[in-house]
Amino acid sequence: MSLYCENCMKLVDTAICPRCRNRKLRAPQPGDFCQIAEVPYIQAEMLKELYADNGIPCTERSVLGAGLVAELGVNVGRVRLYVPFDRLAPAKELYDAYFCGAADAAEREYDSDPE
Ligand SMILES: [Zn+2]
Repeated sequence: MSLYCENCMKLVDTAICPRCRNRKLRAPQPGDFCQIAEVPYIQAEMLKELYADNGIPCTERSVLGAGLVAELGVNVGRVRLYVPFDRLAPAKELYDAYFCGAADAAEREYDSDPE
């Protein structure tokens, strides 16, 4: 069973969080917000709308600092989305159904950008 890291708001499958080395992991509770995806800003907006339509609470954190996003433009921003642990399964399903293909395509486009 996965454990929950409160620092990263993320489920991990190890005894120590691989991201922040937190050793005080605990069993996830239904209301714990867990990271479901890290996506470009535009897709985060779409996912948030999708989750709102389906009654799934969703919170976000910018990956880049707000200052950097302001400087470089909102399009470079990436956003981590979090949903409650007890809504993780339906949220994943929605994500896969609507956005996996689109996210992959956007990623490829971004990589091959000649600029
Ligand atoms: Zn952590």
